[in-house]
Amino acid sequence: MNNLEFSQEPQSALNFLNNQWVKGSGIKFDIHSPYTGEAIGHSYESTSSDLEMIVESAKNAFTTWSQTPMKERTKVMFELRRILLRDIDKISNLICIENGKIFSEAKAEVMKGIEVLEFATSLQNSDSMTKMEVSRGVSCEYRREAMGVVASITPFNFPAMVPMWTMPIAITLGNTYVWKPSEKTPLTAISLANAFKEAGLPSGVLSVYQGSKSSVEAIINHPEINTISFVGSTKVAKIVYDQASRKYKRVLALGGAKNHIILLPDADPMISGKGISDSFTGCAGQRCMAASVLLAVGKVDHLLEKIIERADSHHLGEGMGAIISKEQVDFLNSAIDKALSEGATLLYDGRDKTIPTTGGYWFGPVVLDNVKTDSYVATTELFGPILSIIRCDSISSAMKIENANEYGNACSVFTSTGSLAEKVISRAKAGMVGVNIGVPVPREPFSFGGIAASKFGHGDITGTPSLNFWSQLKKVTIKWESQSDENWMS
Ligand code: NAD
Repeated sequence: MNNLEFSQEPQSALNFLNNQWVKGSGIKFDIHSPYTGEAIGHSYESTSSDLEMIVESAKNAFTTWSQTPMKERTKVMFELRRILLRDIDKISNLICIENGKIFSEAKAEVMKGIEVLEFATSLQNSDSMTKMEVSRGVSCEYRREAMGVVASITPFNFPAMVPMWTMPIAITLGNTYVWKPSEKTPLTAISLANAFKEAGLPSGVLSVYQGSKSSVEAIINHPEINTISFVGSTKVAKIVYDQASRKYKRVLALGGAKNHIILLPDADPMISGKGISDSFTGCAGQRCMAASVLLAVGKVDHLLEKIIERADSHHLGEGMGAIISKEQVDFLNSAIDKALSEGATLLYDGRDKTIPTTGGYWFGPVVLDNVKTDSYVATTELFGPILSIIRCDSISSAMKIENANEYGNACSVFTSTGSLAEKVISRAKAGMVGVNIGVPVPREPFSFGGIAASKFGHGDITGTPSLNFWSQLKKVTIKWESQSDENWMS
C-alpha cells in the first residue's frame, strides 16, 4: 500500500474569505477517506449569506486586481509554481487520502495543474493584442478585459487538477474567482488556496465556497457572478448549463463520458496492452478520459491477453487506488450483474484481488466480453475499472457504434497503419482523439474539451480557446487628428 500519512487531527474544510478560513453557516458533514472508509475530517454546508460575503470581497478585489498589469499578476503565478513544486508531495498525499487514488496518480494530477499554470504564465508574452492602422490616422485595436467575479464548480475525481485547469488562467486574466470544490474532496482546496495566498495573491481574488447542491444553486442565482465553469456528471452539467444560461450568464459545463477504443489486429501488443489497460484501470476508472468500451475489430485475442496480463499485475492500494464510496462499489457490482444478465461474459474478473487491511472501498479491474451494443454497460458511464468489449467485424461497424454514443470526450485507435488511424481520427465523435494513446489528454497549449453530451457551451476549458471564455474583447477605434483624405471610416 502507498505510504500515506494520515493526519492524527481531523481536518476541517472551511470557506476561504478575505484570505482567511471561516466556517460555513450550514450543517456540518464528515469527509471520508476511500482508503479506510473512516472520517478524516469535516466540512460545513454554506448558505447564500456566506456567498454574499464572498462575492462582496471578490467584487472589491476586482477593482484593483483587474487593473493590475498582467506582468504583475503573472509574478504571483510564478511564485505559486515554486510553492506547488515545493509542496507537491504533501498535496499529493492529501489528494490520495481524500480521493483514494495512488500517490503517483495524485502527483501526476498536480503536475498537470502546474502545466496549465505554466500556460497562464506565458500569456503575458503570447497574448499581446493586435493593433493596426485601418485607414490613414485611424487605428483599431483589441483589448482583453476580465469578466468580473467568476465561479468554478469542480468534481471529486481530480481535486487539484480540475480547479487548476481554470484558476491560473481566469485569475491571470484579471478575474476574481469563487471556487466550489466537491463536497466529497474539499480538503485539497485548503492546500491550493494557502499556496495562492503564500504566493502573494491579494485578499478576495480567490475565495473557496464549500458545500454541495445548494452552494451550486446559490452561485447560479447570484446576480454578481457572470461567468461559471462546471466540471462533473452530464446530469448536473445540463442543470447548471440550463439554469445559469437562463440567467444570461456565460457558462461552460463539462459533463461525463463513455470513451471508446478501437483495437485493430495490427496494433503493437506492448503499446496497446499497457495503453488500454492503464486507461481503464488508472485512477480506478474514475476519470472522464478512461477507456470504457473496447471495439475489438477482427482477430485481436492475442492483444486482449496483454491487456489482461497488465490489469492482473496491479495490487489494490499500490498499482490501483480506491473507489470514492461504498455506494459506488455497489453500483459497479450491480452493473456487472446487469451485463451478465444481458448476455455478456466475464473475460477477466479482478474483484477477488486482495483488499488492503485498512478497510475502505475497493474494486479490482473487470473485463467483460461479448457485450451487446445497446446494453446498459455499453451505454452508461460507470466510473469504475470496467472494460466492456464489443466484437466488431470492420472499422466501419466499430465507428458506427462509437458515433451512436451520446457522449463525446475521447476516442482512441490502436493500430500500426496510418491510413486506418486517419479513418478513425476523421470519423470519431469525440473532442479528443488518440492514436496508440489510451488517455488522449492534450498537453498545453492544446486545449481540453469534449463535444456532444460531454460539454455544454462554447470553447474549451484550457489552452488558447479558454481565453475568450474568461475574458471579453473590447474593440477600440481611435482617431486623434483630422485627415485631408476623408473616407467612410472618418
Ligand atoms: P457530480 O456531477 O456529482 O458533481 C460535480 C459538482 O456538482 C460537485 O461540486 C457537486 O457538489 C455538484 N453537484 C452535485 N449534484 C448537484 C446538483 N443536483 N445540482 C447542483 N450541483 C450539484 O460529479 P462527480 O461525481 O463529483 O464527478 C464525476 C463526474 O464528473 C463523472 O461523470 C465524470 O465523467 C465527470 N468529469 C468530467 C470531466 C470532463 O472534463 N468532462 C472531468 C472530470 C470529471
